[in-house]
Amino acid sequence: MTATIIDGKAIAEQVILKVKDRVSVLNEQGILPGLTVILVGDDPASQTYVGSKERTSTRLGMKSDVISRPSSLTEDELLALIDDLNQDHSVHGILVQLPLPKHMDEHKILQAIDPRKDVDGFHPLNVGKLLLGQQGFIPCTPFGIIQLLDYSAIEIEGKHAVIVGRSNIVGKPMGQLLLNRHATVTYTHSRTPDLAEFTKQADILIVATGQPSMITGEHIKPGAAVIDVGIHRNSDGRLSGDVDFASAKEVAGALTPVPGGVGPMTIAMLMENTCLSAERALRT
Ligand code: NDP
Repeated sequence: MTATIIDGKAIAEQVILKVKDRVSVLNEQGILPGLTVILVGDDPASQTYVGSKERTSTRLGMKSDVISRPSSLTEDELLALIDDLNQDHSVHGILVQLPLPKHMDEHKILQAIDPRKDVDGFHPLNVGKLLLGQQGFIPCTPFGIIQLLDYSAIEIEGKHAVIVGRSNIVGKPMGQLLLNRHATVTYTHSRTPDLAEFTKQADILIVATGQPSMITGEHIKPGAAVIDVGIHRNSDGRLSGDVDFASAKEVAGALTPVPGGVGPMTIAMLMENTCLSAERALRT
């Protein structure tokens, strides 16, 4: 079997075009959806992500601001900055680019963002709403993966989804979203003995471990949909994921590539969430 390659770039473009239409409607009502990204320090990967977020939001007719501060910024200074943005009515989405410098308490910082502007969906209130199946903000990467599955007509209800990785930003919300869509969900992680025993049962396998190429064809049930969240820069400069693409594509039914799979969706869903925040602000 050779897997169908899920074209995340093309699907992200479709999502973005729909968001663009909604932004136009808001613009006609005098609303300019505004996203502000706070970047602390000079992590090169973070600078790349922030740059593409800025380009995409500008392309969509949104207001895009990046506030860059040195890694010497104190926690109190960052909290004061977030507070200013919470009060600013022209800002609909606030995103603090992670990771933060070590002297900052990430939980405290994320909790300071007004949950109505928390377009990353990391505030405890939005995490709780996701758990309860209520409307809040859904973290962009798992939200994007649901879109990839839906656009690719991969059925979720009644299927066995296995998640490899249990981070707060990918694994945990991913499992919850799939559960909300009536999948049977299994979480696995670094302490799971005999990982392959679980992954081989998956109709939908989501891999978010940060371990390059750790999932191979031998971990995959024939015909499964495999979503690779990982991003790694190899020594030759090329990008690859947590799934060994060459062996996986011989077994899987559908597979996301790296690059061009999950990555573009994460940015598209950030645009979706920012637009949604502006629409909600208009209604209140
Ligand atoms: P974290 O490091 O926060 O979490 C990794 C998870 O994987 C942990 O739960 C860990 O288990 C588990 N894990 C690690 N090694 C193994 C192993 N050998 N077997 C089973 N489980 C293992 O990573 P993130 O979730 O933040 O990110 C994962 C990957 O996805 C990274 O490569 C990251 O760059 C990428 N990423 C890509 C995004 C995109 O837009 N494409 C967005 C976000 C992340 P334990 O909890 O037991 O330690």
